[in-house]
Amino acid sequence: MSNLTPCPDFIGGEWLMPKGATTPVYNPSTGDVIAECPAGGAAEIGTAVAAARSAFPAWRETPAVERARVFFRYRQLVEQNFDQLCQTVSREHGKTLVEARGSVYRGIENIEYACGVPTLLFGDTLENLARGVDCETILQPLGVCAGITPFNFPAMVPLWMYPLAIACGNTFVLKPSEKVPLTANFLGELLDQAGLPKGVFNIVHGGRPAVDALLTHPQVRAVSFVGSTPIAKYIYETGTRNGKRVQANGGAKNYIVIMPDADVPKTVEALSTAAFGCAGERCMAGSTAITVGAAAERLLPSLVTAARAIKVGPTDRPAQPDMGPVITAQHRDRVMELVASGEKEGAKILCDGRGLKVPDAPRGFYLGATIVDGVQANMTLAREEVFGPVLNVMRMDDLDRAIELTNQSAFGNGAAIFTNSGRAAREFKHRVKAGMVGINVGVPATMAMFPFTGWDDSFYGDLHIQGKEAVQFYTQQKVITSRWFGEGVGDVWKK
Ligand code: NAD
Repeated sequence: MSNLTPCPDFIGGEWLMPKGATTPVYNPSTGDVIAECPAGGAAEIGTAVAAARSAFPAWRETPAVERARVFFRYRQLVEQNFDQLCQTVSREHGKTLVEARGSVYRGIENIEYACGVPTLLFGDTLENLARGVDCETILQPLGVCAGITPFNFPAMVPLWMYPLAIACGNTFVLKPSEKVPLTANFLGELLDQAGLPKGVFNIVHGGRPAVDALLTHPQVRAVSFVGSTPIAKYIYETGTRNGKRVQANGGAKNYIVIMPDADVPKTVEALSTAAFGCAGERCMAGSTAITVGAAAERLLPSLVTAARAIKVGPTDRPAQPDMGPVITAQHRDRVMELVASGEKEGAKILCDGRGLKVPDAPRGFYLGATIVDGVQANMTLAREEVFGPVLNVMRMDDLDRAIELTNQSAFGNGAAIFTNSGRAAREFKHRVKAGMVGINVGVPATMAMFPFTGWDDSFYGDLHIQGKEAVQFYTQQKVITSRWFGEGVGDVWKK
């Protein structure tokens, strides 16, 4: 008997094990293969889209309150299975259980938001637009929508997409990351148990061939994507060329400006969480600290002490570390190469997590917290997304230069400032080129009711994921202008 966890597709309400090629799914804590992910393509996508298309007419006619009730039940089921779900996230991704819990909670909030769909779908009305003529807007679903998700938030990012899309009356095909397919399946089982009609939600596993089949399928109306910038750009260009609505979130490089008046202990704590939380594998990771003036001398000694104290280890057992592994051995090697490139170009390593040994789990994909000082804007390390537990430090003389440097980035996901000065904070929030801004908040990632507003190379599209913009993304607006012929019906005011 194999120890591998089965990883079927979910199509038309059935769990189907496709034959053919697969890719290994690892437990990054141990380096063991824990599942084989099917490498689906056009055939599986074709069947799933056909199932979603045929489920659409009945689901579209289901009243919004009944659609919402499915998500009330879903929320309860996710809560009931919370511990097991978080363990699945930890096991296939490597997050600590604390991090997994936080991320699943962010996902649950998206289900809760979708439960409000009867009021989210309210339109506008104006009586007597002209004499005897009324006007109203209604929001209607699009049809089959698709979601393509990254490895780093196996529950949260899929939950950004399908609960709201489906609650709005659409049907959905999810193509999760092939590195973390098991959490997506677990969430799919729970949605099935919540009583969603067959075919409304489908999961097809795979890589590029499955993605391309979704992007070119004539019956897919909208595509939500979250992943790296080159793929986000490709998804946006290919999807829109094929006539689809696309929202594509890309990668990031987020700057945290530290003013000389910042509260040192609180800033150190926030900065270590922002840089090293989830082993740095967050699109909102605070991966570059820009110290202004004396801030470097005030902050760096305690920051280095805090980074050295971070306990790294396996996340799949009861004794939990502070930080888990990164996703694959290849990714660990790439992060080490980027750090080495910085060193070669003249930066100074203040805390070196390369070559970290974890005796309990010698084959896991580990890196320790790393701090690189004296990083210059032209270095590869400064320009590329590292996506590992590495904090770059860049030193600037004043706030103007710090903002200029932040704004040179091609990305525009998040930026933060740590200061006690309202004036500096105001200046920063007004001038900085980033979609999500933190003031004394290291990871200003937005929650379900606010849009996730990346700018520049961190987002391609018009309407963002989450919040009211997502309702607009998953619906089309109809404006009805009406007149009923007859004379003075009900005109009580003349009497
Ligand atoms: P990725 O771009 O490699 O993969 C994302 C998805 O695209 C996966 O489902 C994958 O199967 C698919 N894919 C990969 N290569 C493809 C190709 N050539 N053609 C078509 N599809 C392809 O991203 P990842 O490594 O899984 O995730 C990490 C990245 O995601 C980071 O860059 C991170 O910043 C980003 N991210 C962004 C946000 C955000 O909201 N901006 C949130 C989370 C993660």
